Amino acid sequence: MAKQDYYEILGVTKSASAAEIKKAYRKMAIKYHPDKNPDDKNAEEMFKQAAEAYEVLSDADKKARYDQFGHAAFEGAGGFGGGSHMNMDDIFSQFGDIFGGAFGGGFGGFSGQRQRVVKGSNMRIRVKLSLEEIANGVEKKIKVKRKVQAPGVSYKTCSTCNGSGQVTRVTNTILGRMQTASTCNVCGGAGQIINKKPADADAHGMISQEETVSIKIPAGVVDGMQLKVSGKGNEAPGNGIAGDLLVAITEQDHATLKREGDNLHYDLYVSLPDAVLGTTKEIDAVTGKVRIKIDAGVQSGKILRLRGKGIPSINGYGQGDLLVHVNVWTPKTLNKEQKSFFEKMREDEHFSPKPESSDKSFFEKVKDMFS
Ligand SMILES: [Zn+2]
Repeated sequence: MAKQDYYEILGVTKSASAAEIKKAYRKMAIKYHPDKNPDDKNAEEMFKQAAEAYEVLSDADKKARYDQFGHAAFEGAGGFGGGSHMNMDDIFSQFGDIFGGAFGGGFGGFSGQRQRVVKGSNMRIRVKLSLEEIANGVEKKIKVKRKVQAPGVSYKTCSTCNGSGQVTRVTNTILGRMQTASTCNVCGGAGQIINKKPADADAHGMISQEETVSIKIPAGVVDGMQLKVSGKGNEAPGNGIAGDLLVAITEQDHATLKREGDNLHYDLYVSLPDAVLGTTKEIDAVTGKVRIKIDAGVQSGKILRLRGKGIPSINGYGQGDLLVHVNVWTPKTLNKEQKSFFEKMREDEHFSPKPESSDKSFFEKVKDMFS
């Protein structure tokens, strides 16, 4: 699922001009075109990747977002409608722009006839992750029920459209003769229809099948984010391609840690004697146990910042911090002896508050935290 860099796919540098990007894509599209590489899955994949890369890098706005956020720019909640949902139809419709009129109407240049590739529908699932799983990345095995072609099913070329998936009609208009192509309504554009199918298959020769899909989830994902596992959605009939499995991330609440962006917050309670005398404490961070030193005379409300003990950035740049909030715990009841001790201390001038400028106010600390 680790996606290759769009610039690498097209073999250009980040400083490449729009013309260079276009030229590079043109070369790739010709090299890996399915008509030149029949039944070559690898070429098909390269062809699609190049198209996706070009779709993003040729759009100034999408390119800027990609430069800043990488692939994550198009996978966030709701998505930005980036290059990640292209099917063959999208790719071929993009060609008008790339190849201009050089190949005549549509993409006739290579074989004269372009069969539409039918894609199976996408499936959506939700995966619940603990903060620890999010911090370290995790591989989840999820059972999904997807539609697959039934064993023994066979397809044949649609005779209505001769396998092109399209029917052409010539009409006379005031502008002259016009040729219009529309999707074949017998095969639905697939170019193929059922030849033989087992009794338990549906009208398209499909059955539902339970499968375990392994999903690699990178560290740093955010609640609401959507990941895509290509080709693990429902299969399509005939020689169509499978849809994608879209995985929505849900972050589970953590018992002691609170997430804020890539930073984590932890409320640490220390006793009065520990605050006065100093101590060390062990806390459970997402990366394991962390020992922290509490200086003698620590003030309630102090925030200790443990650098790099938060969540790694989803873009791979850096790691958040763990912010430990110190709370001095005051007992609600005292016995006689304890009470007389504190009454004595009350009279001692040494115990009256003398805040220094380093003991920042609560509001300044909050300001610091967000800067
Ligand atoms: Zn047809």
